[in-house]
Amino acid sequence: MDLGIKGKRALVCASSKGLGLGCARALAEAGVDLVMNARGVEALEAAAADIRTDFGVEVVTVAADVTTEAGRARLLEAAEGVDILVNNAGGPPPGMWTDWDREDFIQALDANMLAPIALIKALVPAMMERGWGRVVNITSVSVKSPIGVLGLSNSARAGLTGYVAGTSRQIADQGVVMNNLLPGFHATDRMVGMDRTQAEAAGTTPDEIRADRSKSIPVGRYGTTEEFGATCAFMCSQFAGFMIGQNILLDGGQFNSTM
Ligand code: NAD
Repeated sequence: MDLGIKGKRALVCASSKGLGLGCARALAEAGVDLVMNARGVEALEAAAADIRTDFGVEVVTVAADVTTEAGRARLLEAAEGVDILVNNAGGPPPGMWTDWDREDFIQALDANMLAPIALIKALVPAMMERGWGRVVNITSVSVKSPIGVLGLSNSARAGLTGYVAGTSRQIADQGVVMNNLLPGFHATDRMVGMDRTQAEAAGTTPDEIRADRSKSIPVGRYGTTEEFGATCAFMCSQFAGFMIGQNILLDGGQFNSTM
């Protein structure tokens, strides 16, 4: 399917692995040139090289921490004038509500609320001037259905969701479409790590934890980064022009609700 975005340019944050990489690859497949980002150089360069070979698009890489002001300044230098922004960063660590102090919340807010807002503020004005733009923020199922041990994530992402709900409606008449994409369990390094940690705590194997978690998903398995990326690419496509301020949940049906 031609998504109508061939020749556009996208900044995909935190995209050397996992869900961000899934989004980068799906956009590249649609003919979009990329600015890719991650903190570590090695995986980033390898992912970028694969994309150039597989899809023949231009890929610029910026190894930087998107949650810091200095990192974002370097990213914005490379990404000036992009048509598409995919916001992403690693999630905050798990813990107990009694563990977290002000500084923990500030860090989570910086990473999962204020960093995406800063990039939106920097890049959306030029999209509005050109009359076309797309923003997809990768958040989490935890926005709809809280995960107790991820209280820092629940809080920071809820803040971003509120901001996007209002702002997306303020920019829509200038051709800029902004929405959130909410992953449930997906088979990425982060999930493998979480399965491993839980297995150690429960004295079992990561495979058993994964099988157990999969039972709570009507589809019966974790999602793939390809499925996630394809949904993101659609949300960045010409066909998404009437979708504003939505929270698109990709969780295999795990969140049980009628609407
Ligand atoms: P991952 O650990 O597999 O990949 C994360 C990617 O982000 C890597 O490329 C890493 O280098 C990069 N990265 C992390 N922090 C960064 C930073 N500060 N600056 C630049 N790059 C950075 O993670 P994932 O599973 O793809 O998750 C992506 C996001 O989605 C996270 O915020 C996570 O909490 C959230 N999420 C994931 C799942 C899931 O099942 N995988 C579910 C819900 C929410």
